[in-house]
Amino acid sequence: MSRILLSHGAGGREMADLIRQVFRGHYAQADVSQDDSAIVTLGGVNLAFTTDAFVVSPLFFPGGDIGRLAVAGTVNDLLTAAARPVALAASFILEEGFPIPTLERLTDSMQQTAAEAGVSIVTGDTKVVPRGSADQVFITTTGLGVVLRPGVSGAAARPRDRVILTGPVGDHGAAVMLARENLLQGSPIVSDAAPLNDIVLALLEAGVEVHALRDPTRGGLAATLNEIAGQSQTAIEIQEGLIPVRPAVAAVCEALGLDPLTVANEGKMVIIIAPEDADRALELIRGRRYGQEARIIGEVLPGPAGRVQVRTVLGTSRLLEMPSGELLPRIC
Ligand code: MG
Repeated sequence: MSRILLSHGAGGREMADLIRQVFRGHYAQADVSQDDSAIVTLGGVNLAFTTDAFVVSPLFFPGGDIGRLAVAGTVNDLLTAAARPVALAASFILEEGFPIPTLERLTDSMQQTAAEAGVSIVTGDTKVVPRGSADQVFITTTGLGVVLRPGVSGAAARPRDRVILTGPVGDHGAAVMLARENLLQGSPIVSDAAPLNDIVLALLEAGVEVHALRDPTRGGLAATLNEIAGQSQTAIEIQEGLIPVRPAVAAVCEALGLDPLTVANEGKMVIIIAPEDADRALELIRGRRYGQEARIIGEVLPGPAGRVQVRTVLGTSRLLEMPSGELLPRIC
């Protein structure tokens, strides 16, 4: 393969191959983390450090916009390192002709989301490209946080751990697809885009034994579970009947031929937790604004390493593979 395809940005198998071959293959730091944040130690303090580019189309959709997404996405990636998010940088690529009032709406939304997440946007950059060289606006946010508990990583999942999902899957992907196709009329579907500080910091403060955290964004729950199983060399089994999917989202996925387990979320967390702390954690999460529909959906098994399986409502088992193909381009 000699050229970039849309599937290289979809969060599934092709993207993982590109990262391995091109980025990890050419950077000096060959053992770069496979988590959503890197850990940088500075003066004895562990810092979580992450960056994410946002190219969603359309810019505004029910439940959010590219600005809210850009802040919440980076905040959530810091949280996956069990870090308290502290500061963000925001870089804008603007297309010539983009309306400044629209840019102000987006920056207001970013500030509101940052305030909700307790972070400050402290620096940034602005580039403008000629009309047609970019589509309206692309935003890159970089985040810095202080690690509250070292060792939380996809690699730290252990057999017998429970898998908690903080709410229904597929809302964000379905909302953006409907908005893009102008099919929203009468639809109750709203993106879940939200910063999840409330949930993650509460768990860390309560001292429950969290082993791994990951937000199931591009590639959905399927990609996230495959990543964790691969990193930790465990297997993960989830129960189909326990995975919440809103009826309207399930209907949209069915109509578009999508598996809700591969559709992007922007306000959900997968939490891998020691079995003895799972019930206490679940209760805590359910008491939070964005965690009311949380559930334990499965368990980590000793092997086969890297395998994710779904036990269906009929009692049979199927493999849940790393998604591949284009999925939904420009979903975040
Ligand atoms: Mg992430």
